[in-house]
Amino acid sequence: MDVRTFTGGGFGQNAYLTVCGRSAVAIDPGAAASRMAGAIAAERLRLEAIVLTHAHVDHIEGVAEVHAVAPDAPIWIHPGALPMYRALPHQAAAFGLQVSAQPEPTHELRHGQRLDLGECALDVRDAPGHAPGHVILVAPDRSFAIVGDVVFQGSIGRTDLPGGDFRTLMKSIREQVLTLPDDTILYSGHGPATTVGHERVGNPFLVPHYGGELA
Ligand SMILES: [Zn+2]
Ligand SMILES: [Zn+2]
Repeated sequence: MDVRTFTGGGFGQNAYLTVCGRSAVAIDPGAAASRMAGAIAAERLRLEAIVLTHAHVDHIEGVAEVHAVAPDAPIWIHPGALPMYRALPHQAAAFGLQVSAQPEPTHELRHGQRLDLGECALDVRDAPGHAPGHVILVAPDRSFAIVGDVVFQGSIGRTDLPGGDFRTLMKSIREQVLTLPDDTILYSGHGPATTVGHERVGNPFLVPHYGGELA
């Protein structure tokens, strides 16, 4: 499975396209959605689904643009993230942005579920704490995980936005991210990719003397 990154916007948001043979899955289409849509069209990929880690504005503002490439493609989101998804125009206004509503999701993500999307497969793990209904998506062979805003290279997701909670986030990181093998690549919602092993020993929020033991 090939993972391509599309970064854009004032938040420097990373959208990902997993490509398996001719199948493609769009994850968190944000400000760079037009480039992602262009790549899908130019390479004649089959867009099997749009999957959302959570419903913050920067991760969903490009759903309509990518969905236009394949209007029959299902849109997956955790039910806990649906209220925020549907309130997008209000959420955007809180950041001083104008973003119109996006297409209604069609499928619900559940913890422990394996998504079989054409030739691509992804395992779903609940990882709340940064935002309600946040999930991470793990390759079945655990070679990589798309972690949204749960953990970043050297940092963790903010917990001061509505529905955020520090202890819940730390528990999610310990139980859902740090249980993956050290060589699992982590693709985050912002910033460069990293690995589980790198964050386990080098992330100041996760090593004990900075408070990582609170989780
Ligand atoms: Zn977020
Ligand atoms: Zn984000």
